[in-house]
Amino acid sequence: ATIVAIDGPVASGKSSLARKVAKRLGFAHIDTGAMYRCVTFEAMRRQIPLTDADTLTTLAHSLDIRYIDSHDGEQNRVLLNGEDVSEIIRTPEVSRNTSPVADVPTVRHELVRLQRQLALRGRCVLDGRDIGTVVVPEAHWKFYVVASLDERVQRRLLQYQSEGHAVDVEKLRADIIERDRRDRARTHGALRLAPNATILDTTDISLEEAVEMVAALVEQAL
Ligand code: C5P
Repeated sequence: ATIVAIDGPVASGKSSLARKVAKRLGFAHIDTGAMYRCVTFEAMRRQIPLTDADTLTTLAHSLDIRYIDSHDGEQNRVLLNGEDVSEIIRTPEVSRNTSPVADVPTVRHELVRLQRQLALRGRCVLDGRDIGTVVVPEAHWKFYVVASLDERVQRRLLQYQSEGHAVDVEKLRADIIERDRRDRARTHGALRLAPNATILDTTDISLEEAVEMVAALVEQAL
């Protein structure tokens, strides 16, 4: 009863929601997208072709990925073999390349194993695509976060702009549509609504309101 699973499409706000809910409840936050991003970033750095499933899988198995709570409610830090990669794994280029890496079933197998290990310690909030369906189907709390495409494009645009990335809004929209398509189409760990998940539409509500709704539900039960 102390595992909260949050799934949803690209830029639906699930990571920010998960981070803030975790902070409010005093739980750990496990951002599973960051793991797929770390594998992708390291593969790009080592010039491993993103089609080389075997090498990508060995890489996923060998990486030491850790999270450090920021304690100020801001983005948590992600350490890859001890190096702080929190910003570099979120560039538009790494985002685009992560989809094909996340399609590889054996890469998923490695990362899901790690995610389950962390989750089963309890008192945690995980966010991703397949948390409620594959990673911890036994989670008591499952949320599926959605928002309109326009709203998601807008949020990601503001995020990239605040980080100083130049972005073309039409290209960004096409990227989001393509990543959503791949997330839904993959054979293992596809994005889909878990049968017992609660849908949370954040199009017209603030992040704080969404945090309140989720945290209040969990707090009542604790
Ligand atoms: O959530 P985020 O955008 O950081 O995820 C990065 C990429 O990792 C996504 O495009 C998605 O394809 C993949 N992912 C996944 N399964 C998860 C979390 C993320 O396939 N549990």
